[in-house]
Amino acid sequence: MTRSLTILGATGSIGRSTADVVLAHRDEFRVEAVVGGRDATALAKVARRLGAKFAALADEREGEALKQALSGTGIGNGAGHSAVLEAVEHDADTVLAAISGTAGLAPTHAALKPGRRIALANKESLVCAGSAFMADARRLGVEIMPVDSEHNALDHALAAGLNRDVEKAVITASGGPFRTWARERIAKANTKEASAHPVWSMGSKINIDSATLMNKGLELIEAHHLFDLEVERLDVLVHPEAIVHGLVQWSDGAVTSGLALPDMKVPIANALRNQGRLKMNLPRLDLAAIGRLSFERPDEERFPCLSLAKAVLKAGGAMPTILNAANEIAVEAFMADRIKFYDISELVESICSTFSGRNNPAPATVADALGIDHEARQAARRLIPVYAEATRL
Ligand code: NAD
Ligand code: MG
Repeated sequence: MTRSLTILGATGSIGRSTADVVLAHRDEFRVEAVVGGRDATALAKVARRLGAKFAALADEREGEALKQALSGTGIGNGAGHSAVLEAVEHDADTVLAAISGTAGLAPTHAALKPGRRIALANKESLVCAGSAFMADARRLGVEIMPVDSEHNALDHALAAGLNRDVEKAVITASGGPFRTWARERIAKANTKEASAHPVWSMGSKINIDSATLMNKGLELIEAHHLFDLEVERLDVLVHPEAIVHGLVQWSDGAVTSGLALPDMKVPIANALRNQGRLKMNLPRLDLAAIGRLSFERPDEERFPCLSLAKAVLKAGGAMPTILNAANEIAVEAFMADRIKFYDISELVESICSTFSGRNNPAPATVADALGIDHEARQAARRLIPVYAEATRL
């Protein structure tokens, strides 16, 4: 049976790995639509490679370029918000959601259709609007399959027992580029150093989130929504080799874990599987050749974003939405060399404490979440010049 597939974020790191998986199984997938942000040439290329029926670019200004790049191919195309929604409306039984950041929330939410499967890479959707998003998915009978490697591993491990018997679900972190750096050195780190991930090759935003360990914090919140586990039953373990991705410790002391070489094609293939698993022609894990695996506790003093994320998960309500919004603005400013590395956590902390005094119920709808997101972003944007000024002095 062939699966029909739509890919949101088709030109990104996850999108490209997804195209590789699909092309290795040409007869098992039919690609309906592909969606990209603003690169018309790259989107046209992936649409042709995959033989997609429709290509949509979020940036309206690049619509003409996309049209030209696809002329004569018979591939339908469009640009702007309505074109992205048209792509999502195409009749696909699986939608792989890999737009980066909160920009992915509205299209991913629009992709929730009865009986569909969402292969979810866009963790920010769940951090921003987790309860509302999951409630809609449940109501519509949408299956959410995690693509994030740790959650994909946990998904397997959790299948070995009942939720009530889970003592701890642990996600691992490679530790990012600054795992062994002293705080004083991290404080001076530039964008290039923060983007040099030792294990994974990824998009720019998640790269910075991996350097601050905010990525692991966002993943705790993601795990909370995906698996219905409260913060007390979730934990992070640093594991530089990135072979063990997730572990579940059960009430009888047994531990079930998910292992694989660090290649996103493995969890992507798993999230796209049909009746059985796909056959992937990738290097196999050879534990004897690796010999040793190492683990350590995360250092929340050098990586304060992790404790901030834990705190907002504990506080609940709209706090994760607020943290996520502030983090995106701070990461953008860091990538533009406007603020320093530890300004990211300071700015996030400052916005979280500004909003924490209020009554902050969890957003009941995705629209509510986007409203809170907007407000928190504006507050964070207003703070950037303060940090930027201090950086210049
Ligand atoms: P990326 O930056 O490489 O790609 C992002 C994609 O989203 C691109 O196709 C871009 O054109 C598109 N895009 C950006 N803004 C858009 C918009 N407003 N509308 C439509 N499309 C838009 O990012 P990535 O590394 O592929 O990550 C994508 C998502 O997957 C993120 O949420 C990330 O946290 C998650 N993820 C990535 C990895 C990884 O290894 N890269 C691992 C786990 C989870
Ligand atoms: Mg991950």
